[in-house]
Amino acid sequence: MKQNYLEELNKSQKDAVLYTEGPSLVIAGAGSGKTRVLTYKIAYLLEQGLAPWNILALTFTNKAAREMKERIASIVGKERAVYLWMGTFHSVFSRILRTESKVLGFTSNFTIYDTSDSRSLIRTIIKEMALDDKLYKPAAVQARISNAKNQLVSPSAYATNKSFFESDSAAKMPAIRDIYRRYWDRCLQAEAMDFDDLLFYTYLLFRDNPDILAKYQDQFKFILVDEYQDTNFAQHCVVQQLAKKHQKLCVVGDDAQSIYSFRGADIDNILQFTKIFEGAKVFKLEQNYRSTQNIVSAANSLIRKNSRQIPKDVFSENEQGNKIQLFQAYSDIEEAEIVAKEIRELNKLHSYDYSDYAILYRTNAQSRVFEEVFRKRAIPYKIYGGLSFYQRKEIKDIISYFRLIVNPSDEEALKRIINYPARGIGATTLSRVAEAASEYNTSYWNIISEPLTFNVDINKGVQRKLKDFVDMMNAFKESLETKNAYEIGVHIIRESGIMADVTQDNSPESMSRKENIEELANGMSEFCNSRLEEGNEDVFLYNFLSEVSLLTDQDNDTEEDFNKVTLMTVHSAKGLEFKNVFVVGLEEKLFPSNMSGDSPRALEEERRLFYVAITRAEENCMLSFSKSRMRYGTLEFGSPSRFIAEIDDSYVKIPSGIALGRRIDEAASSFRKENRERKSPISHPSSSAIPQNQRTLKRVGALPPSRKTNSSPSNLEVGQKVEHERFGVGFVKKLEGDGDNAKASIEFEHAGTKQLLLRFARFKVI
Ligand code: ATP
Ligand code: MG
Repeated sequence: MKQNYLEELNKSQKDAVLYTEGPSLVIAGAGSGKTRVLTYKIAYLLEQGLAPWNILALTFTNKAAREMKERIASIVGKERAVYLWMGTFHSVFSRILRTESKVLGFTSNFTIYDTSDSRSLIRTIIKEMALDDKLYKPAAVQARISNAKNQLVSPSAYATNKSFFESDSAAKMPAIRDIYRRYWDRCLQAEAMDFDDLLFYTYLLFRDNPDILAKYQDQFKFILVDEYQDTNFAQHCVVQQLAKKHQKLCVVGDDAQSIYSFRGADIDNILQFTKIFEGAKVFKLEQNYRSTQNIVSAANSLIRKNSRQIPKDVFSENEQGNKIQLFQAYSDIEEAEIVAKEIRELNKLHSYDYSDYAILYRTNAQSRVFEEVFRKRAIPYKIYGGLSFYQRKEIKDIISYFRLIVNPSDEEALKRIINYPARGIGATTLSRVAEAASEYNTSYWNIISEPLTFNVDINKGVQRKLKDFVDMMNAFKESLETKNAYEIGVHIIRESGIMADVTQDNSPESMSRKENIEELANGMSEFCNSRLEEGNEDVFLYNFLSEVSLLTDQDNDTEEDFNKVTLMTVHSAKGLEFKNVFVVGLEEKLFPSNMSGDSPRALEEERRLFYVAITRAEENCMLSFSKSRMRYGTLEFGSPSRFIAEIDDSYVKIPSGIALGRRIDEAASSFRKENRERKSPISHPSSSAIPQNQRTLKRVGALPPSRKTNSSPSNLEVGQKVEHERFGVGFVKKLEGDGDNAKASIEFEHAGTKQLLLRFARFKVI
């Protein structure tokens, strides 16, 4: 234990860390050490004798959780930090749900549908219901269903809930009620939960099972939540359920950084905290340690324009620093050129690394121009967002094999691979399977396993093809419990025919796909090795799947990503910091977004988003706007964002000749002529062909060494009491297999029942 870590806090931070008697709220501006308070508080709780598994810490991204864990490990030692219950709401809740799935009618191997899986299912349902898909746009329907779930409104509640149902009827989509019902049932049928379900089902689990709730209430002796201003109603309710009994809860947040209301986040959660948790202590932190005085003052002057906020006085004792610089460009390309040049200039004067720079934009589409210019100018960069590694076609295809093997009811996975690689099972067959599934109220898998039992009208040839497919999947399934994720993964990649399919030719696209697949195998090998190293023998395919289905774009970080300029949306920059920040595309209708329209509430959220952007900067903050830019394939002209003029003049260096707040459409009309020649961006090379995740490739076939611990006794018997290094005390329920395949099913007091391969298991008989 590092003795002096509390000395790295100022007085208010220390007070907040040391207060452990009851609920508390740390409300403070950007960069004032909220995350640091949470981190040190966890270290302090451990030092006070709490066990790591008694602490629940919820963060906004997996990356934030990882960084926090590392910091805590450096204070209290790695062994203890490993066992903290720390992660995003989704990852922690999915862990609870997998343990408790039975009472909800799911198996522990349920699939997590990502956004594209849910959308595909919604599209299918809209088609089956013969609705007009121009009226019922899948994305819009999905957003409404998601919204209902985040408000904890179930399909039956939805049908009678005026504010939902009537608003949808008014929007001329009355059938959403039925789509929602069907979607809910189909997910259940497929043993699948979408991201919103992870929150909703956790809430239901605790609401309907007081004994289970009590178990977790007693386990989590202290609960901590970062970025509380961005929790939605469902998250807020589960936190309440868990904290209700012991009231040991500390949340930190900044109302001025609430930027996710479009996903249902409710700033009132933080504003109402002291009412819900009566007697909650409120701590305010006012000193910003991240940024120069100039940046802090500029950000303060901007956020003052919002009416709904908790008054705060944020100051910095860092250097005064440079004024914020403003750049004007004629086109989006020129804007990127200016940024590139500025990076070069700054590098000449200071010893910055490329990783000291971030380019923040309002929409993902803006990254393309920066990518091109940076590539041309040889500035290394990395992008967050866009198409993440696990969304690439070839990767998703393989993952769908994995998913179907682990959970045969997974309808979306089955649809995706039943005829990939092509095996002559066409659309007609699939629609007959779908009809039968609906008629007999069972999964696609059950239908294709026994098509004749369910009277599916298909000929002998197709029957044989279905049987071959089912046999192949069943054969893969056999090694699910004996092979680790990497071994079975490589086997499937080869045997499914996917590898052969993507390497049919030597085109650059095929090569890139092959590399991605190798990269996947590589990732699986690393997954197994690093878990085994930590003494965690959960290295099976279903463990791997649970982990990857929760990855966010921010988790694409790899070692090779060091020393690169970061390109990301402002939303994903939350909580992060960089020495130099460029906030680009500051034009009306882009930032603030044209979706905010004339709504004052939406405009305030855009302003908070801009506040988040500026406050990421430690030393230099640069703003830019362009008079024209390509949007949706056409050249558009705009005027500088009103937000630029809202920053107090004394903190911004405005070059002469820039008239802020004045529309420049007319002034740009001559310029429009010059640019008429410019073509749409379609001819640019697609960035998706470039592997985003560019780790050094290890070849497939480099099998991870199987690590024998030799610590588990070979003469184990059913009924024996054991103590496991990680899961604690449990009883042996079942023994199966022999030699390398010998495994035991052990029911642990706190960790649930686990299947452990004896050659890896680390426990002793007690
Ligand atoms: P955000 O609102 O952006 O999430 P935050 O309030 O969580 O910011 P932190 O990220 O915890 O702030 O802290 C901002 C920076 O200031 C970090 O680099 C942190 O290490 C540093 N810092 C915080 N408190 C102190 C302190 N007492 N002494 C020195 N540095 C500090
Ligand atoms: Mg923070």
